[in-house]
Amino acid sequence: MSHAVLVLNASYEFLNVTSLKRAVKLLYKGKAEVVEAVDNRAVVSRHFRLPLPSIIRMLYFIHRPFKEVPLTRKNILLRDRHVCQYCGKPGDTVDHVRPRSRKGPDSWENCVCACAACNRRKNNRTPEEANMLLTRKPRKPSHIPWLLIKQDASREGWARFLFWNISIEEVPD
Ligand SMILES: [Zn+2]
Repeated sequence: MSHAVLVLNASYEFLNVTSLKRAVKLLYKGKAEVVEAVDNRAVVSRHFRLPLPSIIRMLYFIHRPFKEVPLTRKNILLRDRHVCQYCGKPGDTVDHVRPRSRKGPDSWENCVCACAACNRRKNNRTPEEANMLLTRKPRKPSHIPWLLIKQDASREGWARFLFWNISIEEVPD
């Protein structure tokens, strides 16, 4: 079964996403508790019957530093919600704000999602030269969860916990 379970730390902060099997193990061993379950569904075995967990919380605190979000084409598009950062239409290409040909780096701050038309039109120019201004300043996302919620909008119950991990500068202007 590919049911994914959100795991919160004892502090209710995001820890990771795990498999149902591992989540049940943690619950069964008394290491975690159910925070949110899927309505009317249960995990049943000979020994127990549990509500199907959607979110669980560790009962002891786990120290774990967050992993950095890797800079990939997919993650840049996810960060920008597949919206062209110049015109606001759907986009699926990555544009270098300062063109690569002019020493623009591969970085979160210099790469944005753009539609094919804007990408072509801007070409080897800076936004100022092309008179194509960015709708918002591109920033580096600090944690994976920020991207996870965008990927899986159906996990509404998860969002309120994941948002806790967004640092202030990532709240859209
Ligand atoms: Zn565009």
